[in-house]
Amino acid sequence: MEKFFMREKSFLILILIFFSTSVHAQTYDLQSIPRVDVHAHIGDVELMEEYLSVGNILKSEYNINLEIWIDLSSPLNPGMKGVEFLNEVNERYEGKFLLCINDNKISDGLRYSTEELAEWQGLGIAGYKIWVGVSPLIDDPANEPTFIKMEQLGLLGASVHISQPYPTKWCDDPIKFWEAHNAWERVLDRHPRLKVVNAHMLDHFNSDEQLDYLRYMLDTYPNVHVDLAARFQQFHRMDWDNLRDFMIQYADRILFGTDISSQPQGGKYKQTAEKYYRCFQLLETDEIVTGGFFGSTETKGLALPLKVLEKIYYKNAAKLYPGVKETLIKLGYILD
Ligand SMILES: [Zn+2]
Repeated sequence: MEKFFMREKSFLILILIFFSTSVHAQTYDLQSIPRVDVHAHIGDVELMEEYLSVGNILKSEYNINLEIWIDLSSPLNPGMKGVEFLNEVNERYEGKFLLCINDNKISDGLRYSTEELAEWQGLGIAGYKIWVGVSPLIDDPANEPTFIKMEQLGLLGASVHISQPYPTKWCDDPIKFWEAHNAWERVLDRHPRLKVVNAHMLDHFNSDEQLDYLRYMLDTYPNVHVDLAARFQQFHRMDWDNLRDFMIQYADRILFGTDISSQPQGGKYKQTAEKYYRCFQLLETDEIVTGGFFGSTETKGLALPLKVLEKIYYKNAAKLYPGVKETLIKLGYILD
């Protein structure tokens, strides 16, 4: 009888060893991969130090490597104003902050000339951020030379913001919502080589029906990608299995982003690191997480496979944004 228990005991120990090593391997992998936030609004050299402080807390408290931020709010203006800013950021941070030119109001036309797009690209910017909002303006004929030039140059549309989430206080009119999306489709139809990351899951991320439209968009336009910025708080609005299947199926097209702006200011590094951690928990575990980067709704995490997480965290960004791959290699990561 005692022998039997001994055997049982050693069997139990073997099981425990097996589980502890397999859990360790999984944790080790997650801890060793880099993460890129493709949707940040900073625009100030000194504020970037505060972002690094958030990154340091993520590293020391959670063993998470948040390495690069794509800054969509850089003061890189038409007429080549802001080149000094670009140089200063590059010298001081060595690729941890990659800057985009941006246009946050297109009602008066896109503000860079086609020559300037080429010049900024030559200086190494990561992309061109365009904000449209709930409007069909993106399809204004005056914008055509810009899109033609972006196609020619292979200049990435970075977190291009079409419409707003519907139905919400930002957009409660279904006709205007669809007018904005239909206008964007017409642009994509005319520019099949236009490479773009659409912000906020293209704002078709509020219901299972909207997720179907997003599937259609990603199937129809192979150069369209989407970022997760400010959409973690909407995970719960879709069926868990449906959303998880979607994230796995389109892993090559989804990028991690938060829409972080002033959150770390005033020394709120720990709180901001916690916001990031919640987003990572929602993607990596099946635990109940209270809120994402924004919001406070209790949501069950998606427990995505490691291969999917790698794509969302850095592999897709390394393919799309100039500078990401170079920075990660410089930091000692081995990229395949
Ligand atoms: Zn944003």
